[in-house]
Amino acid sequence: MDEPYGGNILYVDLKEGSVKKEELKESLKKEFLGGWGIQFKLAYDLIKPGIDPLSPQNPIIYGTGILVGTSVPGATKMFAVYKAPLNGVVAPAAGGLGLAHQLKYAGYDYLVITGKSEEPVYIKIFDDDVELGDASHLWGKGIRHTTDELWKQFGHDCAVQAIGQAGENLVRFSFSLINKASTLGKGGLGALMGSKKLKAVVVKGTKGIRVANKKKFRQLINPIIENIRQWPDRERWSRQGSMYAWGSFPEITYPYKNWSELYPPGQANKLYGIKVLEKVKRSNIACPTCPIGCKFKMEAMDGEYKGLKATMAHFGGVAVFWGIRFDLQDYSRGVKLEEMANDYGLETVTTSAIIDYAIDLYERGIISDDVTEGLELMRNFETAKTLVEQITNRQGLGNILAEGWLSCIRRFGEEAEKYAFIIKGLDVLSDPRMIFNSECFEQIVNPRGGFHVVPALSPTMVPGRTPDKLMRHCNRIGVPEDRMTNIFQPELNMARFTKWIEDWYGVMNILGICFRHPIAVNYNLNTVTELFTAATGVEITARELLRFGEKINNLQRIINIREGFSRKDDSYPQKWLEEPLKLGNMEFWWKDYYMTKQYTKADVEKLIDDYYDERGWDKNGIPTKEKLKELGLPP
Ligand code: SF4
Repeated sequence: MDEPYGGNILYVDLKEGSVKKEELKESLKKEFLGGWGIQFKLAYDLIKPGIDPLSPQNPIIYGTGILVGTSVPGATKMFAVYKAPLNGVVAPAAGGLGLAHQLKYAGYDYLVITGKSEEPVYIKIFDDDVELGDASHLWGKGIRHTTDELWKQFGHDCAVQAIGQAGENLVRFSFSLINKASTLGKGGLGALMGSKKLKAVVVKGTKGIRVANKKKFRQLINPIIENIRQWPDRERWSRQGSMYAWGSFPEITYPYKNWSELYPPGQANKLYGIKVLEKVKRSNIACPTCPIGCKFKMEAMDGEYKGLKATMAHFGGVAVFWGIRFDLQDYSRGVKLEEMANDYGLETVTTSAIIDYAIDLYERGIISDDVTEGLELMRNFETAKTLVEQITNRQGLGNILAEGWLSCIRRFGEEAEKYAFIIKGLDVLSDPRMIFNSECFEQIVNPRGGFHVVPALSPTMVPGRTPDKLMRHCNRIGVPEDRMTNIFQPELNMARFTKWIEDWYGVMNILGICFRHPIAVNYNLNTVTELFTAATGVEITARELLRFGEKINNLQRIINIREGFSRKDDSYPQKWLEEPLKLGNMEFWWKDYYMTKQYTKADVEKLIDDYYDERGWDKNGIPTKEKLKELGLPP
């Protein structure tokens, strides 16, 4: 089957300056289909267990989904798999905005970068013309300048993925941006590229791709496009992007003061409510084939930074991660912090969280004035701005924070560990004391750690969804009837539910379809199975396709078991059970999804057992021999 693959894997060795093109083998497609499937197989073969993530031996494995490059709405995903410099897990990052399309059109489904260059370089991939270029003039520059220069040189029709100064300086939570607006690289892809002296990847493809059954494909896509266009909240999503979730529920807020209190909803509303939209001028940026466009060019219309223009990977980041964490009040200051972080190549969520954490340790006397070199840490704009600069340039306290959470704990000791809201060395994004949903539980058991990877794919993102509604979702994603009993009786079991959400996510990532809410709600397992067959000409049942989603999740698990991860790492911040989140006189404890009972440690451990059981893993979280055999994975 050639369609709709690019047909090749491109290997670039930065040490040798050599390039090798290898045909994508039929056996790989048969056993792992594509997207995440083949990508994790490559990771299994190429990432040698125990390597230092910042060593030249750590490859970067880029991959596109099977449907990327077709007209399937939202089939836009570019994934990068690597051993993460921040926490040593082998996990995927996802981005959009045309990089995957261009790579596919150039004839490649995967790009594997190995080795380390002596001098700064960029990789140029224009169809069969692949070469390394001198990037000395770009080294030391931000992502905006780098991207603009490369566009000036090669034209605006190519995709540019670039790192900033944070990546060059090996900040362990630095990332890259695609076309200045789509993030790629949670866990430190920026640092990994920096360690390889790789400033950017520039891609342009002109070959196009074909699908096996054009007529059937078109028949399947038309109603999906129509559904997305007709979706009642489409306009609001386009206006608010990732802020939509907060803007939809004005009573919802987010923890601040290092996960100890909830920011007052009234105040929060000033940061993400409709009124904020009047303070910024926006125009949407969309990935190819996407009728939504959730990224923005924006301009602050008032406040201290009135007139500041920025391209935003995270509109929500401005409000929630900068605005709430540092009590900014003035929205334009959030725009400023986001603009700085994006340009330097600092990942917003982790950067704002680690600064918030440092302030907390300082207030508790765990970080002293000696360590901050006299800098007084306060929860405000000035402190955040100073530490963003210091982290990027590895100065003062910033040099310590740039090494990440685990290094901070080693440096500041046991007391510091108590206040770190991390899982497997990565900061959490969801707190079960607000709502215990599948995103929240997934943080505990997924190899990647704190940050959940399946946002918006589960209806439990929203509180109080009825069991009927959740069952309908299970039907959509192909959960077999006999498993439904285990998930829903005698009550909703979030652990068992999460397993199926993850497998569905695996399917979407084989295909490369965006998981953001307005896109993902328009797909179900039957639709994507039909799309797969129409695109590839290969007959497959929905059950078989979902089994591939399961296979990938198991493969990712065994890769990380090789790295030494096991049940001991499927842990969570103890404060989730020990202390409530506070809002005035109110206290919020970790309860079940329907908030009927408060959880104890035994309850959570039982859920972890249930998750392993649903997956067919042993008590230590290791896939059993029988399970691996059943999935066709190595023992
Ligand atoms: S919703 Fe956003 S991330 Fe997803 S395809 Fe559209 S523009 Fe890209």
